[in-house]
Amino acid sequence: MKIIVSPEIGFCFGVKRAVNMVEKLLSELEEVYVVGSLIHNSLEMERLRHKGLISVKSAEDVPAGSIAVVRSHGLKKEEIGLLIKNKVKLIDTTCPFVKRVKSEAQRMLEKGYKVLLYGDPEHPEVQSVTSYLEGEVLVVREEGDLDFISIFDKIGLVSQTTQELDAFIKMAIAVSRRAREVRIVNTICDATVRRRRALMDLISRSDALLIVGGKNSANTGKLASLSKKYLGEKTYHIEFPKEISRGWFEGIERLGLASGASTPDWQIGVVLAILKKYGGEVCNECGSDKRRYSLSH
Ligand code: SF4
Repeated sequence: MKIIVSPEIGFCFGVKRAVNMVEKLLSELEEVYVVGSLIHNSLEMERLRHKGLISVKSAEDVPAGSIAVVRSHGLKKEEIGLLIKNKVKLIDTTCPFVKRVKSEAQRMLEKGYKVLLYGDPEHPEVQSVTSYLEGEVLVVREEGDLDFISIFDKIGLVSQTTQELDAFIKMAIAVSRRAREVRIVNTICDATVRRRRALMDLISRSDALLIVGGKNSANTGKLASLSKKYLGEKTYHIEFPKEISRGWFEGIERLGLASGASTPDWQIGVVLAILKKYGGEVCNECGSDKRRYSLSH
């Protein structure tokens, strides 16, 4: 069995930056707090916990005077306010792409636009961004959420960084049909777009696909759904290397290997070692040869 490794595998830029910043802190300090999960990967969180990272449920649980990191997808304004009030020293690892969503939306509000943020209202990034915006902001997920728009409105549209580009474009078209003046800024991060494109390419060359990443990681879940659309049950989404079953690879000539944006390289290494034990062999040329299937998306 040939293994084709996605060129977009392992941590994305923002997660790598956050984990590096936390590791540097932990090399100098005994303990560092984070509200929520720094990243959606339980094995990596466990590794960082052993080094002194303490994950707590809410800002109220961070002891006064301690040191805490703001995770890559940000924290709500009220949470930051409480931490500052409690004299917690904050180290901000918020991804610059997330900060851009906030600054673009704020600029639109200042110019008199009603702002629509395309995304999941429950996602920490969306909650963080909207908590900072002063003005009329609405989180939208589908066309049905646009019924309030009048033709005379000035509408601004931005996106949560990890949404799918095609779905955002569809939303942008729907908004443009409803108002005369629409300003659209694509704030989906490059890492998300590149990873999804790489996955499409991988699917077209593979008989089965193994995706490594947290079951609670939204971006990994989206990659798995995309693969299921084309490869059906030959899509295997695992969180832990020990979930791999030898039987999955019977009759498979080419296996694609991909990961979510919060999966560290060391976990990919463990997965590759297991696949090699089962007779797999990394094929570097298989990623650049002719596609086996043509996919429309
Ligand atoms: S997915 Fe994009 S926005 Fe989120 S942390 Fe990674 S690079 Fe930043």
